[in-house]
Amino acid sequence: MSENPADSATFDALGLSSNVLKAVVDAGYQKPTPIQAQAIPFVLMGRDILGSAQTGTGKTASFTLPMIDILAQGRARARMPRSLILTPTRELAAQIAENFQIYGKYNKLTMALLIGGESFGPQIEKLDRGVDVLIATPGRLIDHFERGRILLTDVKILVIDEADRMLDMGFIPDVERIVGFLPRIRQTLFFSATFPPEVKRLADKFLMNPKEITVSRMSSAAETVEHSFFRCSGRDAEKRAAFRALLGSEDVKNALVFCNRKRDVDVLAKSLRRHGFSVAPLHGDMAQSARTETLEAFKAGKITYLVATDVAGRGLDIQGMSHVFNFDVPFHAEDYVHRIGRTGRAGAKGRAITLATPDDAKFIAAIERLLGKTIPITTIEGFVSPQATGDDGARPDRSRGRSRKSREPSGRGERSRNDRPAAPAEPAADENAGVAQPREPVAAREHDDSDQKSRRSGGRDSRSRGKPRRERQDDSREEDKVVAFGDHMPAFLSREVRIRND
Ligand code: AMP
Repeated sequence: MSENPADSATFDALGLSSNVLKAVVDAGYQKPTPIQAQAIPFVLMGRDILGSAQTGTGKTASFTLPMIDILAQGRARARMPRSLILTPTRELAAQIAENFQIYGKYNKLTMALLIGGESFGPQIEKLDRGVDVLIATPGRLIDHFERGRILLTDVKILVIDEADRMLDMGFIPDVERIVGFLPRIRQTLFFSATFPPEVKRLADKFLMNPKEITVSRMSSAAETVEHSFFRCSGRDAEKRAAFRALLGSEDVKNALVFCNRKRDVDVLAKSLRRHGFSVAPLHGDMAQSARTETLEAFKAGKITYLVATDVAGRGLDIQGMSHVFNFDVPFHAEDYVHRIGRTGRAGAKGRAITLATPDDAKFIAAIERLLGKTIPITTIEGFVSPQATGDDGARPDRSRGRSRKSREPSGRGERSRNDRPAAPAEPAADENAGVAQPREPVAAREHDDSDQKSRRSGGRDSRSRGKPRRERQDDSREEDKVVAFGDHMPAFLSREVRIRND
């Protein structure tokens, strides 16, 4: 992490006020993270910032702390916010608001949150009284603007957070429209984890002579994360059975489980619930009240597993998560880093566990390149596919369905807090998912390249048929050149050892 002399700075040296410093001490932070050390002095100077940083790096405090000091002078007028923070998701907006409350506890700043799915009434009342900080998702802000309930001509500081997510979610036209309503003379702080061309274009358009700050993709959190990859079949029911076997072998306190697609979030959450796990889904199609309720129950420890998409899980700041599970290998290597950033925070140990199907070789190769290390993949020891045994996958034998660790006499699996009732049957649809998978080695299949792509999609779950493959950004074109052959063969194809990256 120490890539800049500023990294060794202390909070006292950054130019923050005593009120903010007191709040930082109360929050228990010992020293600024690299992005905080590098950004805060420049934000206080009034410079624009172009920050290349992902969640988990402390980027929220890198703009909220200096903003509190800048906004401490002056007063907001009715309906004319003095600063605007645009975020892609409601959860991220709520977390930024929480940050302002924590760090601004010795200041008297007013704040409003304009997020979709919540009633307009209280939001309007707040705006009418005047707010220093307005945190909004683009759609809801435009709603308010069009109804004439808000004027943006007094905005002195604009923050665009997670611009790449805005792009993924189709918000860029809204963002451009909103920025068109703002004064041209303003300070702009622009953050994104990745910079595909469209995000670069926006940055060029919105920023004036910005201070560019890049913090390493691997957050410090990632260094305390133990990565484990397990090979499994790509067929729905088998994959879920394998997943349950893994869950049974881990001592999970609380965990996020990531799926690549929204519909799979529901399917997996329902399946796990049927099998007696304490679980809830989280995705953008849920009503805001349901999302808030789910998050609160998860934070309070009433739910052990939260199954989410990248978008819904983005920015979730839940401390001390013991595990992150990737039910699906993410399409973008950066998303792997985002996902696992939810565990192993603040120096705590965390486990990141990923299920890898033969179709994922290319994505895993990209993750290896990004992490700069090889990722061996192991088989789930003792797990026998329900197909191979004639079992329907609905009632995995728990003694078989455990990895090596759980079968050690004092293994974590024996101490699992998540003992659960006998597993009920999977629905019929699961049982019929796909035909039996050939059992030849992964590498052999990968070498048959002529019709590989079509065979792959044919062999993949029925759910992916007819769906366009998720669009890739420029940086992933490179990935397309490598299909895990020869020198580029990922380590998991040739080795069978489990690693710990302590
Ligand atoms: P963010 O990248 O803004 O989502 O922040 C990630 C997590 O790091 C949050 O839980 C913050 O509370 C925490 N955090 C932010 N700054 C610091 C710091 N200087 N020291 C320790 N933890 C921090």
